[in-house]
Amino acid sequence: MTFQTLDELYHFAEKTDSGRAAFSDLSGRALTSPDFVRDLRQIAGGLTKLGLKPGKGVAVLGLNSIETLQIILAAPLAKLIPVPLNLRWAAAEIAFALDDADVAVVALDDPFLPLATELAKNRPDLIFVHIGQGDTPAGMQSVNDLRAEPVELNSERDPATPAIILYTGGTTGRSKGVVHSHASLVAGAMVMAVAGFPTTGKTYSSCFPFFHVAGIQPTLTRLIQSSTQLLMPLFRPDLVASAVRDHGVQELGLAPTMMQMLITDPEFSCKNFAGLERLMYGSSPISAGLLAGLKGTFPGVTYTQAYGMTEAGITIFLGPQFHSGELERIDGAGQPGAPGVQIRIEDDNGAALPRGQVGEIVVYGPTVMSGYRNRPSETDAALRNGGYRTGDLGMLDDMGVLYVRDRLKDMIITGGENVYSSEVESAISTLPGVAMVAVVGLPDEKWGERVHAVIVPKETHTPTLEEVNGYLKDRIAGYKHPRSLSLVKELPLSPMNKVLKHELRAQLTGD
Ligand code: ATP
Ligand code: MG
Repeated sequence: MTFQTLDELYHFAEKTDSGRAAFSDLSGRALTSPDFVRDLRQIAGGLTKLGLKPGKGVAVLGLNSIETLQIILAAPLAKLIPVPLNLRWAAAEIAFALDDADVAVVALDDPFLPLATELAKNRPDLIFVHIGQGDTPAGMQSVNDLRAEPVELNSERDPATPAIILYTGGTTGRSKGVVHSHASLVAGAMVMAVAGFPTTGKTYSSCFPFFHVAGIQPTLTRLIQSSTQLLMPLFRPDLVASAVRDHGVQELGLAPTMMQMLITDPEFSCKNFAGLERLMYGSSPISAGLLAGLKGTFPGVTYTQAYGMTEAGITIFLGPQFHSGELERIDGAGQPGAPGVQIRIEDDNGAALPRGQVGEIVVYGPTVMSGYRNRPSETDAALRNGGYRTGDLGMLDDMGVLYVRDRLKDMIITGGENVYSSEVESAISTLPGVAMVAVVGLPDEKWGERVHAVIVPKETHTPTLEEVNGYLKDRIAGYKHPRSLSLVKELPLSPMNKVLKHELRAQLTGD
């Protein structure tokens, strides 16, 4: 079973009623995959009637809900490109993306309705569609009113047609619009189905928003494989607890920072998670401290890590077998092996490096993006011989397990030695008194760069530099120890809760 386009995938989903809901929500609504695809075709019918030029963008600002997902997944059937927007963006960032992605329609969920007036000021041509449960404001139509005669699925569609624009996380700089074709989007969904992420027959939920690849990619997997996804509007510890306790969620996908917030929430109770079988995490490195904390909190649960990125999808998984016992490799990121996907560790010239050697992680295969929107030179730099250069440093071990060492931009070179910031962070994270830690390189006359640690202390104890380095003594080599330390109340975080190290460095150097 391989699909080249969304049409082929939807055709399969429409004909394959497992009798089980593909999607459900906290209010108790549930849709099988044929129901879901029928809705998509009707919404696409309505979008087609708007008479827009093929390739125009449909921006979507919505919490994770059935309607938000449907308008995103329906737009390509109407030859339009869905552009799910980051919900934490300011108006100026949204306006930038509307131009960048040539947006003609903006779909707004209830909390974002007030933005319509502001966006319409500069763009009176925009068509607004309401996708929330509240009242639809005058001058706007609701997505349900938009429904029309269902479009036919197109078995002739060119798989290279753009199917979505997803903006990158903005961790290392301004977010870039990543264009995925039908073929690359669908390939990502198939990779997850093959990897059993989640397991067939289980109920899964995740707190990754649909504007993030980790949010949207698994939703298409639901339409291929018989499992249910409970859509949670957003990450909130009480909603996560209710998903497991009241809605039978067995497998849960969360970012490490969300897991940290969950288990340190004052209301947290293990009792609420009795039905949980598997925790899936990814999107940024997980510290040894957090993983140990999770294992202590959820002893009977299995773990799977996912590694990937907006540009090449999520294709690498570190399964339960690598989380304990003989094969334990919890500092690994996964074992490449998805059909058609190849991971190579390359030097600057694109030559493959042998196992055990650290270089840039490059992803080859059907999940790789078509390119960045309106950024030809960045596209050229990112795509080399068809592979996507991740900007991440890593290595493969003798079993072919991938280890992500650091982002190239975050690696510290001190006195000629390479220091991976994430390794130092992980080592510091288990020191009592450390709630969160980030390690960055700061300019240093003698060493070129020096290792600097920024710690958010726990209320109970404030660590000192001497204490940190005393703790690290038997854990990591001396040249990796921080030479300086600052204590802060919080770290600057991206909308995906990743630490913004360029901002941290700028704060620390006064640039
Ligand atoms: P930008 O590209 O705009 O700076 P970003 O790279 O954070 O932002 P995403 O595409 O959302 O945007 O994130 C992909 C990156 O996240 C990867 O390149 C990698 O650095 C990091 N990442 C993802 N999963 C993992 C993981 N399991 N372990 C370590 N790092 C991960
Ligand atoms: Mg990136």
